Amino acid sequence: MTTFKGRCLCGDTQYSIKAEPFAPHTCSCTMCQRWAGAPTVPWVSFKGALEFTGKHKRLQYYQSSKHAKRGRCKTCGSPIGVLNDRYPEEVCIVLSSLQPASLAKINVPAEWHNANAKVPIWWHLEIGGADKGFVRSAE
Ligand SMILES: [Zn+2]
Ligand SMILES: [Zn+2]
Repeated sequence: MTTFKGRCLCGDTQYSIKAEPFAPHTCSCTMCQRWAGAPTVPWVSFKGALEFTGKHKRLQYYQSSKHAKRGRCKTCGSPIGVLNDRYPEEVCIVLSSLQPASLAKINVPAEWHNANAKVPIWWHLEIGGADKGFVRSAE
């Protein structure tokens, strides 16, 4: 198992997770855009739970849909991850919250982009074969 580490902007939220990443993808759906304040959000999932190693021992969650809640740092508001009660064993992390050394271990397949129709016309997303959806895992 590989250990991945990440943190928020201010550093009050720091986490590590010892699990293999799966289903890395980018998403331009309206919920991701509004939540993160970005035209596209990069994601990666892990089977496991985050271990919080900084000042905060949990994220501040917002129930963004029936099954999913989105978590941020309580201090600085950095978007960190999503929990979905349909997949209780998993956590989906904002890829860009990972530390550079952890980020470098994850390869996002170019075709795994979701909600291509919501990409702003001024945002040039250089992802080949976008909007094929993403594959959660090979299970
Ligand atoms: Zn923070
Ligand atoms: Zn989305």
